[in-house]
Amino acid sequence: MRRFGAAENPTFELICVYLNSYNILFERFVFSVHPAYRLSKTFFLCRKDRVIFLNAWGEGMERRKVVIIGSGPAAFTAAIYAARANLEPLVFEGFASGPSGGQLMTTTEVENFPGFPDGIMGPVLMEHFRAQALRFSTKILTEDVVSVDFSRHPFLIQGAQTKIEALSCIVATGATAKRLDIDGAKDGEFWQKGVTACAVCDGAAPIFRGRPLYVIGGGDSAIEEAIFLTKYASRVYIVHRRDQLRASKIMGERALKHPKIEVLWNSTIVKITGDQVVQMVEMKNLVTGQVELREAGGVFFAIGHQPNTAFLQGQLQLNEVGYIVVQAGTTHTSKPGVCAAGDVQDPRYRQAITAAGTGCMAALDVEKWLNEAGHE
Ligand SMILES: Cc1cc2nc3c(=O)[nH]c(=O)nc-3n(C[C@H](O)[C@H](O)[C@H](O)COP(=O)(O)OP(=O)(O)OC[C@H]3O[C@@H](n4cnc5c(N)ncnc54)[C@H](O)[C@@H]3O)c2cc1C
Repeated sequence: MRRFGAAENPTFELICVYLNSYNILFERFVFSVHPAYRLSKTFFLCRKDRVIFLNAWGEGMERRKVVIIGSGPAAFTAAIYAARANLEPLVFEGFASGPSGGQLMTTTEVENFPGFPDGIMGPVLMEHFRAQALRFSTKILTEDVVSVDFSRHPFLIQGAQTKIEALSCIVATGATAKRLDIDGAKDGEFWQKGVTACAVCDGAAPIFRGRPLYVIGGGDSAIEEAIFLTKYASRVYIVHRRDQLRASKIMGERALKHPKIEVLWNSTIVKITGDQVVQMVEMKNLVTGQVELREAGGVFFAIGHQPNTAFLQGQLQLNEVGYIVVQAGTTHTSKPGVCAAGDVQDPRYRQAITAAGTGCMAALDVEKWLNEAGHE
């Protein structure tokens, strides 16, 4: 068998020489394969009077110009931009990794996403993102990416069921806010009914106004969240397991000097109770063992985020806590042709609008990269 034609649009010529009972026969077959597929296997079955070729198309592997991994505001914005640039993106929107739509699927009202003056429910907003990506012919696979191989090109993207070759890739898998296993804080209990992990997102909600609020943590983000909440709370308590803050000296001093902030040292919340929303917390002193019941309007976890980068298995440069490192002012990662967008590369802002903004940047970055690398 001889292969000729352009590599992107393979055509195959098959010359068969065989014997039947009386003659020697020659036959020539020419066939082409859809550009998205590659001929991987050909089997021949020779019989006395004929040749049957089976599975001539083999096991094809789909090849895409852009594969986007994730399903939050970053991924779907990247998909909208890439699709409108005729890059025919394919999105792995995840399955076991979390609901399609990302972190906003776990929240109620989003009041700070521009364009919705009356606010919009998080899941409804994400439904709009997804529908807009589909409108421009994005293909969506509801499965997780379990591994990638960026050491070869085209890159290999291995989903839970599907294997895809990609000329470029956008990683937008987000980050997960760390939560503690406190009685009353779980989904179906008071999570998102007074228990949350984002002061900037939720702090201005009416249920928190004029109420005592508790921030769990002791690092810089906990202090930032506590200071932010002083605008709304009657008083803010930082609940810290140790007798010293982990925060930088300057941030620690700001918290300790703030008239509305008090640090509860050596303490942990063991139970959160309420009716429709949080009303009380049980606070345990870890030195004395004493448990005290305190009034509470809300509990904010500020113990860090876990970027969803485990599946990358070290193939991109990450920072010390696992965020993808991008070149300043761009979304380019340490691997040419691979961009990152949203919370997975953003330890600082972590907002829906910034995730969407970097999703747009990533689509424009890969488009330019594909052009410059001659992969139009
Ligand atoms: C409770 C809560 C309330 C919030 N409220 C607001 C708010 O009011 N306003 C605001 O601006 N921001 C808010 N935020 C923050 C905002 O949700 C995030 O900044 C934003 O969602 C980040 O978007 P992203 O696209 O980076 O990723 P994410 O939203 O984190 O989505 C990433 C998705 O990618 C998928 N994924 C992960 N790994 C894989 C994999 N291996 N393969 C395939 N898919 C994968 C997962 O399904 C995940 O859900 C809130 C966050 C939380 C937790």
